[in-house]
Amino acid sequence: MRRSSGLKMRFILGLIMAGIALISYYGKTQTNPLTGEKQQVGMSPEQEVAMGLQSAPQMAQEYGGLYPDNAIQNQVKTVGNKLVNSFEETLQSAGVNNPYRFDFHVLRDPQTVNAFALPGGQIFITAGLLSRLKSEDQLAGVLGHEIGHVIHRHSAQQMAKGEFYQGLAGAATAASGSQSGAQIASYVAQIKMMKFGRDDELQSDEFGVRYMIQSGYQPESMIEVMEILAEASGGDMNRDEFMSSHPSPANRISKIHEHIQTYSR
Ligand SMILES: [Zn+2]
Repeated sequence: MRRSSGLKMRFILGLIMAGIALISYYGKTQTNPLTGEKQQVGMSPEQEVAMGLQSAPQMAQEYGGLYPDNAIQNQVKTVGNKLVNSFEETLQSAGVNNPYRFDFHVLRDPQTVNAFALPGGQIFITAGLLSRLKSEDQLAGVLGHEIGHVIHRHSAQQMAKGEFYQGLAGAATAASGSQSGAQIASYVAQIKMMKFGRDDELQSDEFGVRYMIQSGYQPESMIEVMEILAEASGGDMNRDEFMSSHPSPANRISKIHEHIQTYSR
């Protein structure tokens, strides 16, 4: 009797906690000031900028620091800024201000073939990836994709999702009274996040293609970047930002072709 009422209590408690997680998640709904998308994000763009600036030095440190060649750093900044300027032209014609502060950095790490963006606009490319690129257009492809992640607020979205799933995991623990429930919930959360990750990648590819065209770069170079990354990740287990949760290269490349059609008009 006592035991079954205890179970019932736990179940009800679990439901309440799941409800709280849902309410707090959807309470974070914001309209992206730059793209107009409705998103669940717990931070303001200014907080994203601050968080990115604060974590940039530590991020750099984890990849051997910044590449010690100012000429190369400046080349990468020039290409990145060209894309940002094109995007800002589009924003200006729509009367929207860009709250993000972009900067582009080359990391010293020659082994890792990767690029990534912190929330708010700090963008990194490893020397390992940069050395494999054969044209400025390909570099524009990599940076354009990363700028896309910032503009679409993908990191902030992932953080809000993470908090939501943590809330659910807490609910599962309460409902089952054991750790395995929490483990399952967190497993499911990872799969779900991976699925969202794929959409995010496609969205960033689209952004990259659009502003490559607007900046005068060859958008087909984005496809070459996909090929370079696929080649680099062949064989070893690779958890790169670019390759881990990505859609199949064939699917991605066919989408890129569609975007080239759309934005070349
Ligand atoms: Zn990406």
